[in-house]
Amino acid sequence: MSAIDGLPPLRAVIAEHGLSAKKQLGQNFLLDLNLTAKIARQAGDLSGADVLEIGPGPGGLTRGLLAEGARRVLAIEKDARCLPALAQIAGAYPGRLEVINADALELDVTAHLSPPIKVVANLPYNVGTELLLRWLTPAEWPPFWQSLTLMFQKEVAERIVARPGSKAYGRLALLVQWRAEARVVMTLPPEAFTPAPKVHSAVVHITRRDRPLFPADEKILARLTAAAFNQRRKMLRSSLRGLSPDIEALLQEAGIPPTARAEEIDLERFCTLARLLAPATAG
Ligand code: SAM
Repeated sequence: MSAIDGLPPLRAVIAEHGLSAKKQLGQNFLLDLNLTAKIARQAGDLSGADVLEIGPGPGGLTRGLLAEGARRVLAIEKDARCLPALAQIAGAYPGRLEVINADALELDVTAHLSPPIKVVANLPYNVGTELLLRWLTPAEWPPFWQSLTLMFQKEVAERIVARPGSKAYGRLALLVQWRAEARVVMTLPPEAFTPAPKVHSAVVHITRRDRPLFPADEKILARLTAAAFNQRRKMLRSSLRGLSPDIEALLQEAGIPPTARAEEIDLERFCTLARLLAPATAG
């Protein structure tokens, strides 16, 4: 049975090109084209956008993105074994798919893309978190991308969207939510992948803000949240002692009880405290 794009089913593609999954490349493939089209739709209207896909593998999600109307897809794949399968897809969508055989952690892709740019990826989890952190901390804001639609381990997705007062709340939630809006838009059981991973997965859709939600110096906010959450069970007056000799007074000025713990404090108050710390840490 051929799929809507006239290309062979993904199981046949994998068999034809000998794409046995390699654990060291984090290869857990999505083989259901209805599911990959659904993931592609989570990125919104793709017709006027360039899509950056990291780790296309045999191309299930790539085919979803193209079938859903992406203007252009730039796909970065480290595993050269996948290139013939991806070339077949490029042939079915003339001029719309470019594939680069490279390690996404070592390549600057911005020169190959025109705005608006949406990033969509089902990545190995370690690479995904590393890239997310890089995409959220570029030299200048706003970044090259408009939105990120990314598959993560469900536990990591929960940390990205976590709210104060929850166990999952920490530095990742603060960093993402300061600069972007993040939502979990799908959850997937292990059986959705071949081979099945051990844990559930979730797709997070992240839309950048034009500017951070509250003003604060990025470096000071990073130091502050690192100190607060590295000792998350301690009271803030003690975990933040190293940042200023006046920390108790500054906490109070920011509306934070000095006896509170990091996970009780929302983004707005962390940013207020970061601004109050700015004169103390300047120079
Ligand atoms: N997107 C495909 C899918 O949904 O079926 C494959 C997903 S699989 C979880 C991750 C893919 O990322 C693999 O094809 C793997 O070879 C590729 N990959 C792993 N590390 C990479 C890196 N550093 N740069 C680019 N691709 C990478």
